[in-house]
Amino acid sequence: MRILVLIVIGLLLYIIIGNLFKKKTASKSQDELGKMVRCLHCDLHILEQEAIQSNGHYYCSQEHLEASEKK
Ligand SMILES: [Zn+2]
Repeated sequence: MRILVLIVIGLLLYIIIGNLFKKKTASKSQDELGKMVRCLHCDLHILEQEAIQSNGHYYCSQEHLEASEKK
C-alpha cells in the first residue's frame, strides 16, 4: 500500500514539474516572439524573427540592408 502512495506522489510531482517547465518555455518563447527591433535604414519596427540581421543591426528587408551598407 505504501508503494502505491509513493507512486501516486511521484506521478503528481512529475505532472506538476512538467507543467511548470512547459509554462516556463511557453512564456520564454512568447517573449522572444514579442521582441521588436528597428530597421536601421527606415526606422520601421519589426519582429526580431522577421528582421534581417547584419553586423549587429536589423533591417526590415534585404533592400534596406543593401541600401544601408552602400552608404
Ligand atoms: Zn527598412
